[in-house]
Order: sequence, then C-alpha cells, then structure tokens
Amino acid sequence: MSKPLDYLIVGLGIAGISICEELQARKLSFKVFNTYSKCATAVSGGILNPTVLKWFTTPPHTEKFYPKALDFYASLQNKLKGNSFYCQKPIYRIFASYQEQNNWMAASDKVKMKAYLNPDIVSNGNPNINAPYGMGIINQTAQIDIQTLIDQYVSELRKLGCYHDVRFLYDQLRLTHDTFEYKGITAKHIVFCEGISVLNNPFFKDIALKPGKGEYLIVHAPDLKATGILKGKRYLIPLGADTYKVGATFGDESDGLDWEPSDKAFEILKSDIEEMIACAFTIEHHFAGIRPLTPDNKPILKQHSAHPRMACFNGLGMRGLTTAPYYAGVLIDCLESANAIPTV
Ligand SMILES: Cc1cc2nc3c(=O)[nH]c(=O)nc-3n(C[C@H](O)[C@H](O)[C@H](O)COP(=O)(O)OP(=O)(O)OC[C@H]3O[C@@H](n4cnc5c(N)ncnc54)[C@H](O)[C@@H]3O)c2cc1C
Repeated sequence: MSKPLDYLIVGLGIAGISICEELQARKLSFKVFNTYSKCATAVSGGILNPTVLKWFTTPPHTEKFYPKALDFYASLQNKLKGNSFYCQKPIYRIFASYQEQNNWMAASDKVKMKAYLNPDIVSNGNPNINAPYGMGIINQTAQIDIQTLIDQYVSELRKLGCYHDVRFLYDQLRLTHDTFEYKGITAKHIVFCEGISVLNNPFFKDIALKPGKGEYLIVHAPDLKATGILKGKRYLIPLGADTYKVGATFGDESDGLDWEPSDKAFEILKSDIEEMIACAFTIEHHFAGIRPLTPDNKPILKQHSAHPRMACFNGLGMRGLTTAPYYAGVLIDCLESANAIPTV
C-alpha cells in the first residue's frame, strides 16, 4: 500500500488554487478533482479592488487579505512563466453627482482610505465616456485574465500528475480511522472547495450559502479607446482588441442555481452601457455565473464535526479573488497544527 497523500482537494476555482499554493509552499502532497462545468472563478470579472465603491469604504480585514492577494498573483505569474495574466491597472470611479465628488474627497482623507483613494477629481478627457462630474482613481487595483491563469494552473498541475479532470463522487469516499480513501487514492486530509456546488455535498449539509447570480456582456466598441477599468453603474473592463466586459448584475435568491444568462439582465446591462458610453458598440457574448454568498458576508472555513481532517473552504462571495489567498493560509495553518479554526 503506497504512502497516503497529505491532501485531496475537490474543486479548482480560486479557493482550490489558493489551497494548492499553500500546500506546495509547505511541500505537502495532494491531488485535485475538478470539472469546470460551473465555476464562478472562470466567469468572474478578474478585478482586484480593496474598496467598496458604493460607499467609499473598505471591507472588513482588507489590511490582512489585500496585500496577500497582490503578492499571491504577482508570485503566481512569476512561477507559471506563461503568458501574462496579472496587470496592475487603475479603476476610474465615475461620479454621478457633485455630492459623490464631495463624499469621495471626504473619504480619501480618512486614515484607512488614504492608501487607496486618490483625492484628486480627474476630469474626463475621453468624449466617448459619459462622466460630466469627473472620476476618482482607486490605487493598488489590478486586473487578472482569469481564464489564462486557470489554463496555466491546470497545465502545471497536470505536469505534476496531481490533476484529475473528473467529477468527485461523494458516495465513493471511504473514511477510515486516520485516512480518506477515494478510488484507490488515500490521503490524510480532504478539503472541499466546490463553490456553490457545495449545496450537493452530503458531508456539509448545514452550510448556509446563498446563490448570487451575476451576468456579464462582452461588447465590441472600436471608438471607446478606454485603457483603465471604468466603474459607473457597472464595471467596464478592457479586454484588449477594443472589447470590454460589462457587468456584473446582482441577482437575488429568486434566480436560484440557474447559470443561464437571462433576457432581463441583458436589457439592464445594455441600457447601463448606453448610459456609460457615447459611442457605438456591438454585443458579442452574454454569460452568467453564481457567487457563493453567505448571510453574514464572511467566508466559510469549516471542519467536519466528526472528522476534523475533512474541511470546507467556501463562501467567498463577491470578492473571492481578493480574499481566497489569505483565508487558504488560515485554513491550512489550522489543519496542519490541529488548532481550532478562528472566527473570521
Ligand atoms: C459574475 C461574477 C463576477 C465576479 N467578479 C469578481 C471580481 O471581479 N473580483 C473578485 O474578487 N471576485 C469576483 N467574483 C466572485 C468570485 O468569482 C468568487 O468568490 C470565487 O470565484 C469563488 O471561488 P470558489 O473557488 O469558491 O468557487 P468556484 O470558482 O465556483 O470553483 C468551484 C469549482 O469546483 C468544481 N466542483 C464543484 N463540485 C465538484 C465535484 N463534485 N467534483 C469536481 N469538481 C467540482 C466546480 O466545477 C468549480 O470548478 C465574481 C463572481 C461572479 C459570479
């Protein structure tokens, strides 16, 4: 019988990728089971933003998770050595009124916000962007080409022989006293990182996750010539070759677990683009994904009540790309030291 692996990982969105990186940094062995049928990471906007742009504040614990996120993606870029997927890029917040300008200036003077909000009001020099009240620049923001990152990461794991492109079948997992066994592979720990699909996981039936549907349009706007990320009513994210990702919408629980793009969101996004830009555009693509939201907006780092070496990493919500690298470290610290997981 071969030596057990240290970990099995189910799911390779940003939660799973962050766990793999923690394990590799600690020289721990693992295998991943993943299919990319329903993956929030793959359809995300790819934006790293340390602020809440509705209120000009920061989310709780930004000082812990944000520096870690910037470092994580820059290091991953160096490690994978493939096409670039990480780019520091400013976000331009388009103001809707003089009142918002004032709120911005007041917020940028607060100690917590100084590093992130540039106090200057930038006047709009692009006639194809509608911004009569000007814009504010958010510092330390970045854009990730998430599909390139995923493709490179999977290819790296395949080279290491630790990626299985198959659906994990819960009823095939055997639990023994000190190991987990799955189709002939044994491991000391198992971490589930399944995003919204955790709702099918019989080992974590009590996880309180709310689906939060989000939809994007990909548009071609040859005259727009915007290089930074624009945030007006929606994000308008430059993808190169005069194409932009526009969104995302925020569906509610009534949308359930439906990953199909909807006519309703199409009309909303189209009308929002028309409000944000003054030039012609064509819509090339429309897609949807589901954010794994939690009722208290906190991530889920949880051990199974009867099997403490079985854990769930989920609930990354609206900004999982920014929070996953930090919380993956917290979870693996606890599993490796057998300490209780702290309240996050
Ligand atoms: C429209 C939209 C836009 C977003 N934009 C941003 C953004 O700009 N910035 C940001 O920080 N966050 C953003 N988010 C949030 C972010 O995408 C999520 O918080 C994050 O991707 C969740 O990652 P995850 O790894 O937990 O889940 P997922 O990314 O969903 O990954 C789960 C993976 O597990 C696999 N899986 C599940 N069950 C099984 C099984 N039984 N067997 C095998 N594989 C399985 C799934 O197929 C999937 O590949 C956005 C989300 C959405 C939906």
